[in-house]
Order: sequence, then C-alpha cells, then structure tokens
Amino acid sequence: MGSIKVLDSAIQNKIAAGEVVERPSSVVKELLENSIDANARQVEVFIEESGMKQIRIVDDGDGIHHSDGPLLFQRHATSKIDTDYDLFQIRSLGFRGEALASIGAVAKVTVETNHLDGNPVFIRFEGGRLVEQIPGKERKGTDITITDLFYNTPARLKYMRSMRTESGKIIDVIQRMALAYPRVSFRLVLDHSEKVMTKGNGNLKEVISDIYGLNIARHAVSFEAQDSDFHIQGFLIRPEINRSNRNYLNISVNRRFIRSFRLSQAVINGYHTLLPKDKYPIAIIDITMDPKLVDVNVHPAKTEVRFSKERELNQLLETAVRSRMKDEMLIPDITRKP
Ligand code: ADP
Ligand code: MG
Repeated sequence: MGSIKVLDSAIQNKIAAGEVVERPSSVVKELLENSIDANARQVEVFIEESGMKQIRIVDDGDGIHHSDGPLLFQRHATSKIDTDYDLFQIRSLGFRGEALASIGAVAKVTVETNHLDGNPVFIRFEGGRLVEQIPGKERKGTDITITDLFYNTPARLKYMRSMRTESGKIIDVIQRMALAYPRVSFRLVLDHSEKVMTKGNGNLKEVISDIYGLNIARHAVSFEAQDSDFHIQGFLIRPEINRSNRNYLNISVNRRFIRSFRLSQAVINGYHTLLPKDKYPIAIIDITMDPKLVDVNVHPAKTEVRFSKERELNQLLETAVRSRMKDEMLIPDITRKP
C-alpha cells in the first residue's frame, strides 16, 4: 500500500503560516493590507507585548459580508481575484487568500465586521476552526483581534519570546504603509502608548513630518519622472540629512512597499557624491506602472517583486534622482516650511 496522503487543512494552513506570518509584524502587515483593500480611510492598530499577546486592527472599510464568514479562514479563498488572467495584473495588496487562513492556524482570532449591506457579525476562529458566528454590533468596517500568536507552534513561540526587536518591526511596517498611503489615517498604539499617528489628508509632506519629524520634512524635495512605462514620484531628503543604513529608503510600486536592492541602489547612485562615505539617503518614492509589468507573486510575504523592464526602471530612477539633486544643490539649504 502506498504511503502518500493529503494532509488535513489545519496542517496545510500551519505549514503555509510558516511563510506568510513569520512573525507578529507580518501579521500586522497582512491585516493592514486587508484594511486598505477594503477602502479604509482610517486604520487603528493596538499592540500588546510586541504582538505576542494581542494584535488588534480596527478599520472603517467596506466590511465583510456575513455569508463570507465560513470562507474567511479558508486557504486560497479571496474576493480579490478570479482567474489566472487577474493573477498577472494584480491591483490589490492581497490576492493569495492565505493570510487569514495562516493567522487562524497559529493564533486565536475574533472578527467583528459590518458589510456595507448591513447584517453585522461576530466571528470567532480558534484551533483552525470557526467556533462561533453570531450577530455583531452595529459599526462601520472591521475590527480584528489576534491573541496568543503561535500558541500552538512551540518552537516559534519560544523563538519569538526571546526576540526584543519586534516592536521596532511593527512600527516600521506601519510607517511604510502610512508613507505609501497619505490619504489613509494610521494610528499605532503600542502597550497603551501612541507611536504613530497620521492624519490621512493626502499631504505626503505632512506624513513625512508625522513619521520622521519636522526637520526631515523641511528638507524634503519633491521629484517626479515619467516615461512610457513608469511614473515615479515622491520626496527626496536633502543629502545633509542622511542615515547609516538603507532602512530609510521607502520605495513602493503601485503603493505596495517593496524591498529591492537594485532600486535602492539606483536612488543611492542618484545622490552620488553628495552623501558622505557609508551614508544613505532618506527618500519616499512611489512608482506607478501597469500591473502587468510587475510580478508580485514571488514570495508569500509579497515584498519581493520582479519587473519585466528592470534595467529601464533603474535607469529612469537614477537619472531622475541625480538631476533633481543637482538642481536642488544649487539652492542653499534654507529652512522651508513643509
Ligand atoms: P486576500 O487578502 O489575499 O484576499 P486574506 O486571507 O488576507 O486574503 O483575506 C481573505 C478575504 O477576507 C479577503 O479577500 C477579503 O474579502 C476579506 N477581508 C479580510 N480582511 C478584511 C477587512 N479588514 N475588511 C474587509 N474584508 C476583509
Ligand atoms: Mg490579505
């Protein structure tokens, strides 16, 4: 008799969880993405004990339809794509239908949500199962609470408990999201103290000030570049203000923040000799392109992407940064209002 069998869905989800929700900050990222995809204009995040005790995200988005309750935690269940044609032109932040299934496999989750159509519901998901779905409170949007993350994955739990840096990673995720979405108000409360607050009025310079402080915002120089495939825009911080690592290079593609060594390098090259040795710039850059030109389905965390015209994009970005900085450095560093 053969020995291969299909694992039950709870184990399948736990396996996927290893990649999709590697740590508390990845849970926060996935939940924020869902709020943005649901057209939220205001997102509040409450974290206790670096997210190991509780992660709660409250949005004012479109909500989840009560009839979708049973599918919410099912793997590859999504409202965002239908066909493989859609997969090659992703316009939403989520599309894999894996986040809630993965989170539900390694944590206890409650969801209180009200779809635009009405019928608010309260859903409790535990041990890989939907254990409760009852009528919920009247509200706008969705309120998701994750408790006891990794309670049933002992090695991960032990590893995470030993980490001291997780709050920093959570702050980083929210800051990058806020910089990519100036029209959305973000608030982060970590162990009852407010760490991030943006207004959501669409003014990116104000967001830069809210995230990095007034002085950096005062040194922000707007820039823009365009060719037939790409539209680049954002702010470059004058090189007198710099950092000793690349973490302050915020690059997003169609408002999805990404990690790209090459694009970061293009920006650094654009600043060229204006930066002291071993110093890196601060920049906030969004690149708009036809979603067909970028593959976001590279890794479950969706921060790594592949471009079909990478060389052209790098060149456009580097040249745009260089010429903007060249112009800018002819103007003395006067203090200006953001
Ligand atoms: P994906 O985002 O890839 O579709 P998820 O597991 O993150 O997969 O979410 C599953 C589905 O649950 C989404 O497609 C969406 O329909 C719904 N959903 C999740 N979070 C929210 C939210 N905050 N507001 C509205 N709908 C949500
Ligand atoms: Mg999602």
